[in-house]
Amino acid sequence: GATDQVSLTVEGVGRRFSGLVALEDVSFSVRPGLVTGLIGPNGAGKSTLINAICGIVPPSSGRVLLNGTDTALVPVHEIPSRGLGRTFQNIRLFRNLSVLENVTVAADAVAGPGEDSRAAAMAALAVVGMQGLAARPASSLPYGAQRRLEIARALALRPSFLLLDEPAAGMNPAETDALIAVLRQIRADHRIGLLVVEHDLKLIMRLCDHIVVLNKGQMIAEGPPEHIRADPAVIEAYIGK
Ligand code: ADP
Ligand code: MG
Repeated sequence: GATDQVSLTVEGVGRRFSGLVALEDVSFSVRPGLVTGLIGPNGAGKSTLINAICGIVPPSSGRVLLNGTDTALVPVHEIPSRGLGRTFQNIRLFRNLSVLENVTVAADAVAGPGEDSRAAAMAALAVVGMQGLAARPASSLPYGAQRRLEIARALALRPSFLLLDEPAAGMNPAETDALIAVLRQIRADHRIGLLVVEHDLKLIMRLCDHIVVLNKGQMIAEGPPEHIRADPAVIEAYIGK
């Protein structure tokens, strides 16, 4: 059916901020059921690219096609219902709502008539291993759990693609391990295409099937972790600073 024909393609995307070239001619695809890593030094253009993909910061050149539609032409509030979910670099939860309520708000947004959005929210919480915390106020959770809650909320919108901007930021090693397990589960069970921006190179190398490397707005490498790890241009970008 239509659901196995989803696609997300970045085609020659460039973005300028007045004089500054934040992105130049970036092209790659996020593939369903795989984890694509997006890495690069600070200021490389990673967040700008995530925002370009979501249609928040439209490209100055090139385009992003979501199931064949240019995301810059889709109203921003319609992007999630078109199958493109995201989390943010900074946590954005309803702090005074319970864990379950946070996710139910999202499930409500996509529930059909007669559908039980509370059950759908519980299912999303189960994916991130948080069913047991459903009644807790979101603000009472440890940091790592708050970040997993954000992922559950994004999942409740039933995305085909999920963009995660620095999901492990601020996590301790145990929280990072739990996050990796969750993302692997999502990849395996849900056929969602994940795009993960992350500073933590070890996490990226462990988790990703495919890696895209940005430096100063340009894509300097693309490939599986074992290629990226040994790529002289990548090593130079990280060490030659
Ligand atoms: P990264 O996420 O890889 O650290 P960013 O995408 O945030 O990099 O930034 C890339 C470059 O674009 C940086 O030089 C940054 O200062 C610049 N930039 C990002 N957003 C804006 C903006 N809204 N206005 C002006 N410059 C920006
Ligand atoms: Mg960033």
